[in-house]
Amino acid sequence: MFKKILVANRGEIALRVICACKELGIRTVAIYSEADRNSLPVRFADEAICIGPPQISQSYLNIPAVISAAEIANVEAIHPGYGLLSENANFAEVVETCGIKFIGPSPEIIRLMGEKEKARAAMKKAGVPILPGSDGIVASELEAAEWTHQVGFPVIIKASAGGGGRGMRIVRSEQELPALFKAASAEAAAAFGNGDLYMEKYVERPRHIEFQILADAYGNVISLGERECSIQRRHQKLLEESPSTRMTPELREQIGAILAKSLSAIGYVNAGTVEFLMDDNERLYFIEMNTRIQVEHPVTEMVTDVDLVKSQILLAAGERLPDVLHGPILPRGHAIECRINAEHPEKFTPSAGKITAFHPPGGTGVRIDTAAYAEGVIPPYYDSLIAKLVVRGKDRDEAISRMARALEMFIVEGIYTTIPLHRRILADPDFRGGRIDTTYIEKLFATGKKESAA
Ligand code: ADP
Repeated sequence: MFKKILVANRGEIALRVICACKELGIRTVAIYSEADRNSLPVRFADEAICIGPPQISQSYLNIPAVISAAEIANVEAIHPGYGLLSENANFAEVVETCGIKFIGPSPEIIRLMGEKEKARAAMKKAGVPILPGSDGIVASELEAAEWTHQVGFPVIIKASAGGGGRGMRIVRSEQELPALFKAASAEAAAAFGNGDLYMEKYVERPRHIEFQILADAYGNVISLGERECSIQRRHQKLLEESPSTRMTPELREQIGAILAKSLSAIGYVNAGTVEFLMDDNERLYFIEMNTRIQVEHPVTEMVTDVDLVKSQILLAAGERLPDVLHGPILPRGHAIECRINAEHPEKFTPSAGKITAFHPPGGTGVRIDTAAYAEGVIPPYYDSLIAKLVVRGKDRDEAISRMARALEMFIVEGIYTTIPLHRRILADPDFRGGRIDTTYIEKLFATGKKESAA
């Protein structure tokens, strides 16, 4: 087992990894930018090294600085968290070249899944259902038009290197295709330094359903079931739950078995998430695979009792899946996660600044993953996620009422947060009735349903 791990991230996920290491008896090294000097990961890690100024390009994304810190601290492994360098194949390669274990799959697998049209092809070959789409990169507007004629509108243009919902455009008619193609390409080039695009059939009002998997280095792969992530704004998730109200035990088992077989065949190791869209006929189509821990991993942890971050570390250390899991996965109850972002709840503009009061809720079945605290400052340079409020109930109804009361008792003052938006969602009869899809938030705002005091 590793004796010392460097956590190449910040905020709540850095703290989450530190928690896992403490429970495993592993020493931790935090890295931080000048803006995060007073952060909780710095306080709770055994060692902390400043790696640069606030801008992520000069600190958390600065590979030489991260590697130097790892070498100075003499760590045996690096946990990348999510975002930042977590899906950067070059980083994973440099880490391994330095004789340090990267806690995640191999650089080859990260690279394959990072080029989304290649990931589609690999999954298709392995027997995973995918949407009709371009086989590879669509190089020009002309090619895009030709391809669209074959499958018919609507289609969605997506960035090969995509993430965070950027570089995506829905196209409903021939006339708008050239302008949307150019806009997607420019957005992708600016966001990812790569303007390559591919296309897929657009599914109207789909559900976003993803499967959590764990894999060891000996070909064993297991699915831990699904998360329903249809509550999104601008293709970014806001609230997730498990199980999905639309999933049947048969479909769960069928997809789990296909994924176990296909990911074992490509040599996938460590944790991963396979994302699907579900259409009106309950058919699932692969859209992408994330080769890292997800923001929303706690909902799976709450229903399965498996610590996914500890599992990642144990699997990276070469342990076998049966030894990591200690028996069969028996999901129980229902879990919901609300992403509490430092944002205006209706305008969604970022809201950095000093938190003047902070009271997180507690009680049975409530979990909070956060690195925020009273008098702490939310810097303007980073992701707006400041806390994840997660609850578990014996069923969906209990999880909903527990979440509603926990949101009511969550006090954050000094900055705007998405708490009022979540209260509005939790009080909405459509959400309560499970009538949700990826256009839910748009509809909620269009109908102007108001937050209830409940
Ligand atoms: P990213 O990597 O940028 O997050 P994804 O491929 O994971 O992109 O898609 C993000 C979201 O965009 C999905 O959850 C869904 O809401 C929407 N989306 C993506 N592809 C399609 C599609 N073919 N049809 C309908 N919606 C889609």
